[in-house]
Amino acid sequence: MTRGPIDLHTHSSVSDGTETPTQLIRAAVEAGLDTVAITDHDSTAGWDEVLTAAAGTGLQVIRGIELSTRHEWRSVHLLGYLFDPHDPVILRETARTRDDRLTRAERMVARLAEDFDITWDDVLAQSGGTTIGRPHIADALVARGVVPTRSAAFESILHFRGGYYLPHEAPTVLDGVRMIAEAGGAPVLAHPATRGREAVVDGADLGRLVDAGLVGLEVGHRENTPDGQARLLELAAQYDLVVTGSSDYHGEGKPNRLAENTTTPEALERLIAATRGVEPVRA
Ligand code: AMP
Ligand code: ZN
Ligand code: FE
Ligand code: FE
Repeated sequence: MTRGPIDLHTHSSVSDGTETPTQLIRAAVEAGLDTVAITDHDSTAGWDEVLTAAAGTGLQVIRGIELSTRHEWRSVHLLGYLFDPHDPVILRETARTRDDRLTRAERMVARLAEDFDITWDDVLAQSGGTTIGRPHIADALVARGVVPTRSAAFESILHFRGGYYLPHEAPTVLDGVRMIAEAGGAPVLAHPATRGREAVVDGADLGRLVDAGLVGLEVGHRENTPDGQARLLELAAQYDLVVTGSSDYHGEGKPNRLAENTTTPEALERLIAATRGVEPVRA
């Protein structure tokens, strides 16, 4: 029985959320959630703390990740649920991505420092977790008074066409799907329709991902356009994929609020049934 909304995409300060895993659990309880998944970028470092924090709250915790991957030249985000966090391929690839995120951020800051009052130490001071990214550069720019908010930084100088953007290394989305599936998890494409009906991975490409073990599509997400969501529902029906909806909560780092999009209990059941890594925990 579910006692509230199911939200399967949230970030903590392990990556670029502004709340610790403990504070994230508190926020989930306050929002009246039945189930929350922690899905930090490229890291499972928050998994133990969320379980400890959730003990006695009645909340169901799904342990997950949001893997940075790429498809051709595009960045693609892949959610993975309930996989074995000790899987050697997962450990190796996420460590590689985190390392490359670090050198990439350092190189971006070197470029920014030519034009703005910002140092690498400013950025390190903003990251308390394992996975660094543009949000921490944004927070350093806010702290220096260069921009008013994190979102304002993303809309201007940190935008990928803003003149300072650099990409980072990441596995292909096909390898990402294989990696999560082989570690016993359920891979779900995150916000795949931010660019409209032409979903990030469409047609034959999606078929290949399904053959490799893709389980679902995140349809309910504020950045998927309405026509893009309609297309995703067609594709989910065609390939018999699980449809999810989630907030992509980042604490105060993004406007997204917990439970602004949700997943049905039936969809969550199908996701869980596809896994054999770690168990959901009802604390
Ligand atoms: P990166 O992966 O380092 O290129 O940074 C992109 C990430 O920034 C995405 O995962 C977004 O979710 C995240 N992000 C956090 N806060 C914001 C914000 N206010 N606006 C846009 N993106 C944000
Ligand atoms: Zn993020
Ligand atoms: Fe994402
Ligand atoms: Fe996210």
